[in-house]
Amino acid sequence: MNHYAVAVIAGDGIGPEVMAEGLALLQAAAEIHGGLAFETSSFPWNCRYYREHGRMMPEDGLTTLRQFDVILLGAIGDPGVPDHISVWELILPIRRAFQQYVNLRPIKLLRGLESPLRYKGHADLDFVVVRENTEGEYSNMGGRLHAGTPYELAVQNNVFTRYGVERIVRYAYRLAKETGKRRLTAATKSNGINHSMPFWDEIVKEVSGEYPEIETRLTHIDALSAYFVSRPETFDVVVASNLFGDILTDLGAAIVGGLGLAPSGNINPEKDYPSMFEPIHGSAPDIAGTGIANPIATIWSVSMMLDHLGERELGRLVLDSIEDVLTERRVRTPDIGGTATTREMGEAIREQLYRRG
Ligand code: ATP
Ligand code: MG
Repeated sequence: MNHYAVAVIAGDGIGPEVMAEGLALLQAAAEIHGGLAFETSSFPWNCRYYREHGRMMPEDGLTTLRQFDVILLGAIGDPGVPDHISVWELILPIRRAFQQYVNLRPIKLLRGLESPLRYKGHADLDFVVVRENTEGEYSNMGGRLHAGTPYELAVQNNVFTRYGVERIVRYAYRLAKETGKRRLTAATKSNGINHSMPFWDEIVKEVSGEYPEIETRLTHIDALSAYFVSRPETFDVVVASNLFGDILTDLGAAIVGGLGLAPSGNINPEKDYPSMFEPIHGSAPDIAGTGIANPIATIWSVSMMLDHLGERELGRLVLDSIEDVLTERRVRTPDIGGTATTREMGEAIREQLYRRG
C-alpha cells in the first residue's frame, strides 16, 4: 500500500469550490486503484486568515508543509488584500523554500474541446511550457528614488544565475528526452535585454550539446508569442524565464480553451521537498460563491500530482476521464459553453473514472 500525505490549501474565492472536486476525485482514484491511500490535511491559510492574524500563514507554516509529500493549492487572492501580500507571503515563500524551480504547464487541447484557433485540431495543440520559477525578472531587487520630483525613477533588477538557468534548462531537455520529444524552443530577447538574455542563450547552447538528438531553437519572445497563435504545432517543449514563461502560459491557456482548464505543477524535480500543484487561475471573485467555476483545471492538476508521485497510469486515467466527459458534451460549466455547476462537472468526471477504472 502506498500512502501519501497531501497538504491542502484551498485558499480564497473559487479555490475551496474547485478544491472540493479535486479532493473528491483524488479519493475516487485511490478507491479504484486499491493499493493507494491519500491522507489529506487542510490548512486555512488565505486572505481571511490574513485579516485575522496579520499574516498569510503561521510562522512555522513552511516547517509544517515540509512534512508532506505534496501540496495542493486552490487559489489565493482577494480584492481587499493587495496581491503583493497574498502572493509574496504565501505562494512565493513556498516555491522558494521548497526549491520548486520548475513551473510545468501543459498546453494541450483536450479531446472534445475547440480552440479559439478554430483551424487547429487537438493533435496540433499539445506541448509543454517549462517556466523558471525562482529567479529572473521577479527578483524583488530594486527600488525607487527621487519621489515627488520630475526625476522620480524605479529600477527592478533581473537576476539570472548560472546555477538557476542551468538547472531549468537541463530539466527541460531531460523532459524532452524522457517523453520522446524532438524539439526544444527557448524563449529569449537577447537583442533587447543585452546582459541577462545572452547569458541565458549561452547556457541553452552549452546544455544543448549534451542532447544532440533534440533540435534546439532560440526564439525571441515577441515572435514566439505570435507563433503560439500562428503555428503552435511546431512546439514540443518550450523553456522560458520567469516573466516570459508567465506571459506565455496565460497565452497558452487561452489557445486551449481558457483559464478554467489550465493546470500547473511547481516542481522540485529532486524530490528533496514537496512539490505543489495548482490551477493557474486566480480566485475569480466575479463568480465566487455562485457554484459555476470549472473544476477541470484543479482535477487536471491532481492528475499531474499523480504523475509526479509516480502513479502515471492513474494520472493518465484521470485525464482520459476528463476528456471522455468533454467529448460526450453533456456536462459542461458555463465557461466552456454549458450550464452545469462545479459539482456536476466534478461528479461526471468521477463517474467516468469509476466506469473506466
Ligand atoms: P486573482 O487576483 O486571484 O488572480 P483575477 O481576477 O486576476 O484573480 P482569475 O481569478 O484567474 O484572475 O480570473 C480571470 C477571469 O477568468 C475571471 O473572469 C474568472 O471568472 C475567470 N475564471 C478563472 N478561473 C475560472 C474557472 N475555474 N472557471 C470559470 N471561470 C474562471
Ligand atoms: Mg490574476
